[in-house]
Amino acid sequence: MANKIRIPIHLIIEHGAVSRLPKTPIYEGLKDKKVFLICGSNNTHQLAEMIRDTIRPQAREVHILSCENNTLDIINRLERKVLEETPDYIFGIGGGKALDVSKVVGTRCNVPVVLFPTAASSDAICSPVAVIKMRNRSTSIGVRMPLAVVIDLDILASCPPRLVSAGIGDLLSNKTALFDWQLAHQAGVEEMNTFAALMAKNAVESFMNTVNRRDLDRSRLLKSAAESLIMSGIAMSVAGSSRPCSGSEHLISHALDFHCGAKALHGEQVAIGVLISQYLQGKRQQVEELHPYYEKLGLPTHYEDIGYTKEEMRRAIRLAPSMRNRYTILDEFNLTDKEIDSILEEVFPEEAKNRYRSIGSSAK
Ligand SMILES: [Zn+2]
Repeated sequence: MANKIRIPIHLIIEHGAVSRLPKTPIYEGLKDKKVFLICGSNNTHQLAEMIRDTIRPQAREVHILSCENNTLDIINRLERKVLEETPDYIFGIGGGKALDVSKVVGTRCNVPVVLFPTAASSDAICSPVAVIKMRNRSTSIGVRMPLAVVIDLDILASCPPRLVSAGIGDLLSNKTALFDWQLAHQAGVEEMNTFAALMAKNAVESFMNTVNRRDLDRSRLLKSAAESLIMSGIAMSVAGSSRPCSGSEHLISHALDFHCGAKALHGEQVAIGVLISQYLQGKRQQVEELHPYYEKLGLPTHYEDIGYTKEEMRRAIRLAPSMRNRYTILDEFNLTDKEIDSILEEVFPEEAKNRYRSIGSSAK
């Protein structure tokens, strides 16, 4: 019955969050502490320098460590350094990989992690899951939740529009994932955590309410996307797995990664998966209703828009159930190639092609 749930104890999402850091409890907690800043290259390195200069008057020692990628080699190298030099905190600074690497190293070395996401491109900005590269393949592993998350909306505003859209694609998967979870529950395969499900549902609905606002602007959109992705991450922590935010649509995306060359961003592939899952879940009308939102939010409405062929999509849908042991709508069908083809034709008609536009040209 007892379940230990970890959630970030500090969550800061505001303009100028980095320069205002000295006014926060996070800064107070750094007194005489040793801090490792793990960042990517170029822009995130500059941000790491800015954070180092901001916290240096308070901390005892601050060191910047770069990670070029999220491979096991890099993680092992950083882990050794952390074990040898025993920092009190790890700050993960960057888009996706630096955050994932920081979460993995922090978990393995039992050092609390504070994340500074520079892009809201997936729910990795605050989740108990990290993606690492092993033998040239991306694998998701469970990690401890970050102690705190600091999102500077000014920094997020400079994130490329395509990454913002990808984050939104990842968020939209909550609905189809929750349907699949309910299905697994009804089939007697899995328990459903109602509280986690409610959080994941509210996360995506609150974001859609923002999208429907007449006074929607980019700043509001970014803030709402970041907040909802964080709520999704916390829902996963409550559930103890990625279940509330990852169902058949994610299995299709994983199959595209493993079997079809991983040609697009995670959230873009998930967005394509959402359309297929909605259709299979009997919500054909909602597939059409999603199209205007996809256009507005810079998401692909056709798989060819992100570089996949019909043959690759057929393979991905066929192999999706084998990607992990997770009961979804895909298990309720035993689709033949012919049936998959007719689903693809219905979900992705010719007129759905080439509508893919950057979010900057569609949202104010
Ligand atoms: Zn995802």
